[in-house]
Amino acid sequence: MNDWQEELRNSVTTVEQLEQYINLTPDEREGLARIEGVFNWSISPYYASLMDRDDPDCPVRRQVVPRVQELHDELGVWDPLHEEDQSPVKNLIHIYPDRVAFLVSSVCATFCRFCLRKRMVDTAGCPLDDDNLAEGIDYIRSRPAVRDVLLTGGDPLLMPDEQIEEIVARIHAIPHVQLVRIGTRTPCTLPSRVTEDLCRRLARHQPFWINTHFNHPKELTPEAVAACARIVDAGIPMGNQSVLLKGVNDDTAVLKELGERLVAARVRPYYLYQCQVLKGTVHFRVQIERGVQIVRGLRGRTTGFAIPQYVLDTPHGKVPLNYQYLKGRQGDGVVMETYSGKTWTEPNPVPTSCERQAEPNPVSS
Ligand SMILES: *Cc1c(COP(=O)(O)O)cnc(C)c1O
Repeated sequence: MNDWQEELRNSVTTVEQLEQYINLTPDEREGLARIEGVFNWSISPYYASLMDRDDPDCPVRRQVVPRVQELHDELGVWDPLHEEDQSPVKNLIHIYPDRVAFLVSSVCATFCRFCLRKRMVDTAGCPLDDDNLAEGIDYIRSRPAVRDVLLTGGDPLLMPDEQIEEIVARIHAIPHVQLVRIGTRTPCTLPSRVTEDLCRRLARHQPFWINTHFNHPKELTPEAVAACARIVDAGIPMGNQSVLLKGVNDDTAVLKELGERLVAARVRPYYLYQCQVLKGTVHFRVQIERGVQIVRGLRGRTTGFAIPQYVLDTPHGKVPLNYQYLKGRQGDGVVMETYSGKTWTEPNPVPTSCERQAEPNPVSS
């Protein structure tokens, strides 16, 4: 058994174990007592060791320790993206014409309290069975338009090396698949999982990308940064997807430090997700207008590629939640706002009617 598998077997899954790491608050204690049968929880020993013993507002602790608020979410729904209606094959979600998400694992190293797939993650760790896998691969093979396959779950990297490599290889063998990528939180929650051997195996199947998930600079420990380095050094490009979480990272300064430290670790901030209206996440949701202002504060104040795209996922795909820098047209000019709040008018004459006819429509579908 590998070190990481041994570590996972010692995961924190009982109140008694959790009390070895933190002094529980009444909200946490009640949450833990009442959550059974509603939501699963589990924390890797590594991630648990990052929690502050006494501060319930610790950004690591908030992400993983159940609280009673999870059980009082009137607005939240179980499957806000209607994923279960958009699956032509069980566990395969096809929304965009050219790419699919394939949920190949139902287990994670640590269960996030705001997880979009809270309804399905479990500790049994049963990855999809051989028939479901074959069905998914057949589906992708039968759709020549699918050029990009995202393996997610759960966390695909909780499978044994050979099994992950085999799935990646089988999908890459489909001629029209140009790109395979994996979404995994293990660099953040179980860095020991990211072995050199695993990275070497995955890097054999190029082009191959990894998107990971850090939400707060406190998570970028030397161990986590080293795990990212093993991936990047093997020749696998890395992105990061965060979720905007109240009390964790709903702050321009926190996101700035997160982005800068990710870039220093050679991980490119990709998306910052609006927390879905998902059952059990009411205490994490930030008002969208506030989210837009928080991200607006990053522009011009840090490296451009340290800034993620703020998005809302919907049943119809991801929608960018952008600040409106473009203020409108004034005669032959377009008026805009710069990062520092200055106004700029760019000369930009309206095309004549015959010039306009010659231009193709930029949005074709
Ligand atoms: C997010 C997502 C993708 C990938 O979207 P990108 O914007 O290309 O990263 C693909 N399929 C589904 C169902 C998704 O939710």
